[in-house]
Amino acid sequence: MPQLRVLPISWALAWALLTLAALAGAVRWDIAQRRDDFLTDARIAHRLLSQRAAQHEAILNTLVLLSPAAAASAPSADRPETRLVALYPQLLVVMRRLADETWPDLALLASETTSRASRHAAMVRFDGATGQYTLVMAGAPASFALRIDARQMLPWDTWPLARGGPVRVSLVQGDQTIVLQDGERPSTQPLGLTAGFVFAKPLDAAGQRFDLRLQRATGPAEWPWPWLLGMLLLGLAALLALATLRRHRIDKQRAEALRRFDQVARLNTLGELAAGIAHELNQPLSAVLASTQAATRLLADAPPDLPLTQQALAHATAQAQRASQVLTRLRRSVERPDLPMPLQPVDLVGAARELLDLLAPECRRRSVSVRLLAGEPAVWALAEPVALQQITHNLVMNALQALEQVPAPERRLSVQLRTDGAMAKLTVGDSGPGISAQALPHLFEPFFSTRRGDQAQGSGQGLGLGLSLCDSLAQAMGGGLTAANQAAGGALFSLSLPLAADPETR
Ligand code: ADP
Repeated sequence: MPQLRVLPISWALAWALLTLAALAGAVRWDIAQRRDDFLTDARIAHRLLSQRAAQHEAILNTLVLLSPAAAASAPSADRPETRLVALYPQLLVVMRRLADETWPDLALLASETTSRASRHAAMVRFDGATGQYTLVMAGAPASFALRIDARQMLPWDTWPLARGGPVRVSLVQGDQTIVLQDGERPSTQPLGLTAGFVFAKPLDAAGQRFDLRLQRATGPAEWPWPWLLGMLLLGLAALLALATLRRHRIDKQRAEALRRFDQVARLNTLGELAAGIAHELNQPLSAVLASTQAATRLLADAPPDLPLTQQALAHATAQAQRASQVLTRLRRSVERPDLPMPLQPVDLVGAARELLDLLAPECRRRSVSVRLLAGEPAVWALAEPVALQQITHNLVMNALQALEQVPAPERRLSVQLRTDGAMAKLTVGDSGPGISAQALPHLFEPFFSTRRGDQAQGSGQGLGLGLSLCDSLAQAMGGGLTAANQAAGGALFSLSLPLAADPETR
């Protein structure tokens, strides 16, 4: 899954934790549900078995009550108790002892004594191995005893638990346990994380005080695995979708950045080329023009001054050759754009002063008060002089244009020079309206402008190219350009460039 690689490790960890929490929550919920179901079933089972046990005592009571009426001498087959065995499958034997008879087992006599004292049935020998116990009820003239097969007591027609199901059902008295239903033996269960569900309560029958115990193992084998697997797959699908979305966003951002970079690079090259051609050709072409005009004038003289004409034409030829060399150099720079910008130490204080001198008429025309703040007489930076001039010119012109939006007495512009660690800083601040929060993140994008085209002044302005070109020039010189709003109002642009040593002191 290559998409997953785009997710930061913290995301993957958060996902794993969330998934674990969700799975644990599902397991807990499932266990709670099954415990509730188990306890409901256990209570019903307890009620049903208590009813069965109470029934045994009711039978004995009835037998004792009926005993005087039943003729002691009646043939045993006619006596009512003998028919009970056929009616109740759990009753194995019904015994009777008249006053002059003896019980087949001495233990029955002891229980009869107990029964006579307590006035309800008493139990004899609760036997885990055979699953049987005997219940004695003392009476006169006859006492009765029932031998009961506990395993036949379960009323399957109304029993809430599935026959052969996972719940172990037993009756417990002291160290004797009669298992009514095996369930899944805990020993065959995988190690459970909970103690399992246990229900233990004495039967509600006065003479049969033994516990009904229900037990159900819980553990990983009982967990709702299909659900858990489904949740895990769903979580994975969500993670994959998230990763795919993120990858798309990253790809889009990268493509956007590349496109911007290409655009800026192309504009930069074109802009530099255009500025270079204009700058470098202007002077020789003016000189060619001046020389040829002079030659024309000299030839028109009578007699024409041939030596001077020759000199003027030679000058024109030299200037035309210079223009050709300029073009050759520019062509080379277009063919080899990978060559780094030639940097040299430039005094930012001097460069700023020069620029402010150049723009002094502009500032006066707009009634802008200008301040040059420099802590030191010179701040040396590694820069390309023309590029540096282009950046500072652009920043100051932008500030002047912004200041047109505030009343004349409030128009202030400052250029500050200082060193900041290994960098030299040139900041241009103004008291204009500042930069809106919407515009701030887009200032350095090509073609971003809040100025209408008809307000355009100078190269690139009004087109939204100025700051993007300045930014790429600053970066090409190993520096950077940032924009911010000042606390007191107005915008502040900072150009940082690598510091250079003062060439004089070397
Ligand atoms: P242009 O000047 O052609 O609009 P720039 O790239 O030089 O292009 O400037 C982009 C935008 O940045 C401007 O349109 C303007 O909104 C904003 N901006 C630049 N300098 C300032 C400043 N000093 N104060 C306020 N906004 C400015």
